[in-house]
Amino acid sequence: MDSIRIHGQDKPHAVCIPYPCQGHINPMLKLAKILHHKGFHITFVNTEYNHRRLLKSRGPDSLNGFPSFRFETIPDGLPPCDADATQDIPSLCESTTTTCLGPFKELLAKLNTTSSSNVPRVSCIVSDGCMSFTLDAAQDLGIPEVLFWTPSACGSLGYMHYRDLSEKGYFPLKDASDLTNGYLETALDWIPSMKGIRLRDLPSFLRSTNPDEYMFKFLVQETDRSKFASAIVINTFERLEKEVLESLRTLLPPIYAIGPLHFLVKHIEDKNLECLGSNLWKEDVQCLDWLDSKKPNSVVYVNFGSITVMTPNQLIEFAWGLANSQMEFLWIIRPDIVSGEQAILPPEFVGETKERGMLASWCPQEQVLSHPAIGGFLTHSGWNSTLESIGSGVPMICWPFFAEQQTNCWFKGTQWGIGMEIDNNVKRDEVESLVRELMAGEKGKEMKKKAMEWKKLAEEATQKPEGSSFVAIDKLINEILLKH
Ligand code: UDP
Repeated sequence: MDSIRIHGQDKPHAVCIPYPCQGHINPMLKLAKILHHKGFHITFVNTEYNHRRLLKSRGPDSLNGFPSFRFETIPDGLPPCDADATQDIPSLCESTTTTCLGPFKELLAKLNTTSSSNVPRVSCIVSDGCMSFTLDAAQDLGIPEVLFWTPSACGSLGYMHYRDLSEKGYFPLKDASDLTNGYLETALDWIPSMKGIRLRDLPSFLRSTNPDEYMFKFLVQETDRSKFASAIVINTFERLEKEVLESLRTLLPPIYAIGPLHFLVKHIEDKNLECLGSNLWKEDVQCLDWLDSKKPNSVVYVNFGSITVMTPNQLIEFAWGLANSQMEFLWIIRPDIVSGEQAILPPEFVGETKERGMLASWCPQEQVLSHPAIGGFLTHSGWNSTLESIGSGVPMICWPFFAEQQTNCWFKGTQWGIGMEIDNNVKRDEVESLVRELMAGEKGKEMKKKAMEWKKLAEEATQKPEGSSFVAIDKLINEILLKH
């Protein structure tokens, strides 16, 4: 990690701005820490809504930062709200796109006028790929901007083909019956490095009868605009997504694969940085003590991330499937996981599983996944969760909810050998049999072996000076971020 360290008075100053959701803030904070370690002054920009939530979950001093790592805020453009829940994604995409550029430019101007004090002039922007309005600000200042695409490379490639899919007539769907009549099983052979992928495995915003579906149009706009970035970074590693990265490289500016970031960031031994966290919910750390009392590979970990919602009935099917599997489990049930209501589990389920199940509302997931007691992960297939699972050598059952989670799921099942899909219309019997297979079956054993192989390759990419991600981060700095 120390191959580049910039010293001297004239520090480069990177403004890092994540899309305001948990799964985007986490990897952006890691990248910011790495750049800081390499010698950058960092300004990290949260929305006011998330800033308040972070202060609440992590304590009033948690975002003070320190002289060369500062936090700033801008409004997200949505009406004020005191909730502690994930905001509506299409509304947030629309409001950030239409309202955030002005406040962001004002912030940059403020940072540049304080340059006489300890704040160097802003020299580059590192922005989430879903916040491409920031490109206008970088252009005004004549500085480089890197877009950080937080999805997988395979998911990103799916988004890159949205326009083709629409032009070839796959979208919009003819009518709602296309959702159930087998049409989505249509396999495509023309998307390079994804041969055989079915329509239903592509990022989910395609599944609409509405030609003006907002998220579809938003993704087309963001992928189109990303061509104007100085470079793209993706939290993945070359060996895992080699062919997909090759395909993406034919379509986009230079791409740097710099993941898994949660491995790369481990090289930094700076206590100040360690205490800067990004969890929007308060972590329940007692589950780690509970895991300490369990045998290696004996517990199935269940967590559907920060956005997934389900119906009360789906929650109950998962509950009885877990109970009937007879396996030990750690199940994280986010307070807002059931849309519009409180998540209520049947008292009989709680009574029957109290000896072998632990429930919590949010956990330190990286620590949980790397705990030796965890043998398998029932996940929604978000990209951070997937990478964290790969990094711990943990095989998965996937219940993809939306966005590129479907694509991640297809790659895990058909290309990487580390995942099994569970039907969207979840039934307890399927949960039971897949959990048993994952934890004790032959397929589960094979997947575990594969997951351990990928873990080793992830380590090689990030922990050796010649590792691909280790090298890519230095190249990103030298070839792009310092070019001003
Ligand atoms: N996470 C966590 N504790 C939890 C649930 C999630 O720390 O109880 C973190 C997880 O480690 C990951 C992020 O939240 O870094 C979720 O991102 P992901 O891309 O997996 O899914 P999303 O929440 O965006 O759907």
